[in-house]
Amino acid sequence: MEGVKLVIKATGLKKSYRNGNQRYDALKGIDLSISRGEFVAIMGPSGSGKSTLLHLLGGLDLPTGGELLINGTELSNLSEKKRCLFRRNTIGFVFQNYQLIPAMTVAENIALPMQAAGKSKEEIHERVQVLVEAVGLLGKEHAFPSQLSGGQQQRVAVARALVMQPPLVLADEPTGNLDRKRGSEILTLLSQLHTREGLTIVMVTHDLYAASFAERAILLKDGAIEVDVNQREEAEGDVMADFLAKLHA
Ligand code: ADP
Repeated sequence: MEGVKLVIKATGLKKSYRNGNQRYDALKGIDLSISRGEFVAIMGPSGSGKSTLLHLLGGLDLPTGGELLINGTELSNLSEKKRCLFRRNTIGFVFQNYQLIPAMTVAENIALPMQAAGKSKEEIHERVQVLVEAVGLLGKEHAFPSQLSGGQQQRVAVARALVMQPPLVLADEPTGNLDRKRGSEILTLLSQLHTREGLTIVMVTHDLYAASFAERAILLKDGAIEVDVNQREEAEGDVMADFLAKLHA
C-alpha cells in the first residue's frame, strides 16, 4: 500500500494460549512500531515470546487482544483466504531450515510465490534472473537444493522471500543452521539488500552477532518488551551495556 510509513503498528498486542482451562499469556500487551526501511532484531531467552510475535507479524496466527496493523491492514478483519493472499503479497519469510522444495530447481523455488500469484512466464523469468544475481547464485539456476551448501540454500530462500517485492521480510533464526562464516555471508546479504533496496526486515535471533547486523534490537522477556534500542541513533556505551546485561540476566 503506497503512503504507509509504518509497516508494523502493534498496540497492546496480546496472545494467550489455552490448554484445557489453563491460560498462558505468551504476549502481554506489546506496543511496537516499525517503519519502512528498518532492520530490526528481536532477541530474548527461550520462551520469551519471539516466535509467537513473529507468527502474529506474519499473519500466520491471530492475536487474542490488542491491535495489529501490517502495512496499514488489520489482519484480524480478513477472512482466512484474504489473509493468505495478503501474506503472499506483503510478507517474505525466511526460515532457519530454508524450507525449499527438494524436487524443484533453484529457479523454480524462487519463482514459486509468483507462480502462485499467476504472474506471466516472462515476468517470472525476468524477476528470477534479477534475484539469482542479487543473491550471488548465477549459474546455479538449474541446480536442486540437495546440490547446494546450506548457505547457498538460504540464499535461495532469501531470493524467494523477495520475489514478490514485499514491503516486509520476516526472518526466523536465518543463520541458525549455518556456521559463522556462512551465517555472516547471509547476514551481509540481508544487510546489503536492506541498504540497497530499502527492505524492511524483522529478524528473530538468539545470536548477538547476528543481531549486530540490525539497526535496532528489541529484547523480549516474559512476553513483554524489556529493551528497544536503536543501535544507530543511541550511543553504544550505556545503552548497549544495559541491553547486554538484561539479555544475560
Ligand atoms: P520463544 O520463541 O521466545 O522461545 P515462544 O513464542 O515459542 O517463545 O513461546 C512463548 C511461550 O508461549 C512459551 O512459554 C511457550 O511454551 C508458549 N507457547 C507457544 N506456543 C504455544 C502453543 N501453541 N500452545 C501453548 N503454549 C504455547
